[in-house]
Order: sequence, then C-alpha cells, then structure tokens
Amino acid sequence: MISRNPCIANLQAGYLFPEIAKRRRAFVTAHPESRIISLGVGDTTEPLFPHICESLVKKARALGTADGYSGYSDEGLVALRERLNEVYYHGAFASDEIFISDGAKCDIGRLQLLFGSTVPIVVQDPAYPVYVDGSVLIGAAGTWNGYGYTGIKYVPCTAENGYFPDLTQIPKQSLIYFCSPNNPTGTVATTLQLTTLVEHALKANSIIIFDAAYSEYIRDSALVKSIFAIEGAEKCAIEVNSFSKPAGFTGVRLGWTVVPHTLKYESGEEINTDWARVMGTVFNGASNIAQAGGLAALDAEGLVEMQRMCDFYLGNAALIRQALDYIGINSVGGIHAPYLWAHFPGRDSWEVFDEFLESCHIVTTPGVGFGPSGQSFIRFSAFGHRDNIEEACIRLCKLKR
Ligand code: PLP
Repeated sequence: MISRNPCIANLQAGYLFPEIAKRRRAFVTAHPESRIISLGVGDTTEPLFPHICESLVKKARALGTADGYSGYSDEGLVALRERLNEVYYHGAFASDEIFISDGAKCDIGRLQLLFGSTVPIVVQDPAYPVYVDGSVLIGAAGTWNGYGYTGIKYVPCTAENGYFPDLTQIPKQSLIYFCSPNNPTGTVATTLQLTTLVEHALKANSIIIFDAAYSEYIRDSALVKSIFAIEGAEKCAIEVNSFSKPAGFTGVRLGWTVVPHTLKYESGEEINTDWARVMGTVFNGASNIAQAGGLAALDAEGLVEMQRMCDFYLGNAALIRQALDYIGINSVGGIHAPYLWAHFPGRDSWEVFDEFLESCHIVTTPGVGFGPSGQSFIRFSAFGHRDNIEEACIRLCKLKR
C-alpha cells in the first residue's frame, strides 16, 4: 500500500461543521418534537430570481442545438470577463487579467499552488477556514498545536482593534489572506484601513489575497467593494469574488479571480502567466450554463435582482440584530454582510452553542471554529427563509430576563 499524504493527515479544521451536525443530531434524537432552526450555515436559501434563472434555462436549451452548442470555455467567456471589468473595476483591467472559475473557494484552494510550501502565511483571526486549510494541504502551515498551526500567523481581529489586524504583527514577504466584508465577523474594512493594508503590503513585498465574496452586500458608498479601488493594489493583490452570495449561485457555481499583469514575483516574473498555467492545468473552465447566468446577473435587470437578493438577507440580519439587542447581547456585523458576530465575554463558544440549541432550538456556529480569537463568540448567519428567521427571533427574544 502507498502512504497517506501527510498534509491531509495534518488537516484539523474539518471538524467544525461535522461537530455541529453531531450535536444537532444528538439533540434531535433526545427531543424528537423539537423544530430546529439553523442560523449556522453560510449557504443561500432563496430561489433564483426570474431573469437570472431564465438565462440558465435558455443556455441549457441552446446547448441542445447545433448553433447554440459550446464546449470548454478555458479562462471564461470574454463577454463575461469584459462585463465584470466594467461593473466591478471601472474598466481597469484587460480581459486576460480576469479568470472565470467555478467559485471563490475553489480558486482560493488553487491559488497557493502559485506560492508553494515555504511562503509565510498570514490570516485574520477569526477567518474563513479554507485560507488555513489550503495552506495545510500544500504543506505551508506547519503543525497543529491545539489552537492553530505553527506556520501560520494568526492576526487577531477583535473588538479591541475594531476587527482590523495590527499590521505591525505581519511578517515581511507574506501571503496575506484578507476578507472584507468579513466572514465570520460580518464587519467591513474602511477605505482608510484598506489603504493602510495596501501600503503595508507594498512596503513589505507581501501579496494580499483579497476575498470579496460579500462585496455586493456593501450598502455605504464610502466603503469600497474591491481592493483594486485602492491605489497600488494592482502591484500587491489578487482578488477573488463570486456569484454565490449575491445571485444565489452556491449550487450553480461561478466565481472569478483578478490577477493583474502588474503583480510580480520577487524574480520580476508575472504572476498572471502562472495563474493562467495553473488554471489551464487543473481546471477546464466554468460551466457555460453558469456563465450565461453570470452575464444575465450583470445586465441592468440582473444587477437589480442581485441587489434584491442581498437586501433580503440583510433584512434577515437586521431582524437578528434587533433580537440580540433586545436580549442584551453585544454583536457586530449584519449591516454590510449577512453575518452577525455576537460576544459572550468569558464564555466558551461551544458552551454557548449548546445553550442556544437547548433553550431556543437554534443552531449557530461557535466562533472558536474560525480561529483562536473566535473564542467566546457565536456567528449568526442571516441565510434563511424569512418565516424561519422571524420564528428564531421570537425564540431569542424569550431569553430576555
Ligand atoms: N469566501 C468566503 C469568505 C465565503 O464565506 C465563501 C462561502 O461561504 C466563499 C468564499 C465561497 O464562495 P464560492 O461559493 O464561490 O466557492
């Protein structure tokens, strides 16, 4: 027999959602009459809006005709890349700087192939788990010490620092994963904060992998939706984004990554060339049905539908925030992101998780599952049907003493 890849054996984080499911199952077995409501997962729940949905149907039908058939689409439809460029980047990029993919998570998982196993990794703490797991899989994370990996620098993002990392803690020449609006905290970095992040990366010869998967949830025009709105970012950042959360494409699968030609390795070689190579090697292009949906999502009607989708989930978030406020629980987020991050000072995240499950029959996500600084926090997700969210809020309000 051949032996297991030690990097896979080193993966720890896969425990979070299975552990939540295990506790939920145990509770339902003990209380079969309970009606559990999940405010735990980051998956969308609402049906696609008609204009975007119709474009998928039309493309699927066209594939059944001689004229409408198409095969592999490699880096993606040029029309989609050009439209993304217009809508998100004010035309700043050439179409070969925008790569269409099957989703942001898939791209994040592949991106580290560019930098290998010796690059210093920095993540916000707490963080979306794939930044850490992708690093573990490529052997760049060091060993697990019970709280985190020895080879990863976890930079705390807490109430004390306004959920923005202390940049002086970041080593030079690092690969910095940065997510805004943030999963799990639901907070968003200001334009000034992003400017300092870019300035820092330029000075330190670091590269930022900017995850903008929730950019469409931003509701304040003073906040920027892309790292490339910040001067100099084209020399130090890669941006990933996705149709999953604004268009409900979590199952349809469509995302994109921007790798500017101006972004270079230490050797002076373009990173864009290597990303094209990686994508050509391990990926054969996004679904052409999904790309037709992406094009529809970016026309005038589609943009309105995406706004309505985000508004709906933000409406859920507002209800959860009101309920948490009412029972005196301190939370952040939920204004420019579909997550709320609630603080339970001095408490263990899992203990609080169990308490919500037992007292309200509500499933949440323990903050510690997103990194050591998530201890004592709970993430509430606003992805849910409105009647479930309302019922969950009624149950939460009953906790008022
Ligand atoms: N990035 C963040 C921060 C996310 O929260 C998620 C999904 O929850 C993703 C990326 C994944 O996006 P996609 O569905 O495009 O793979």
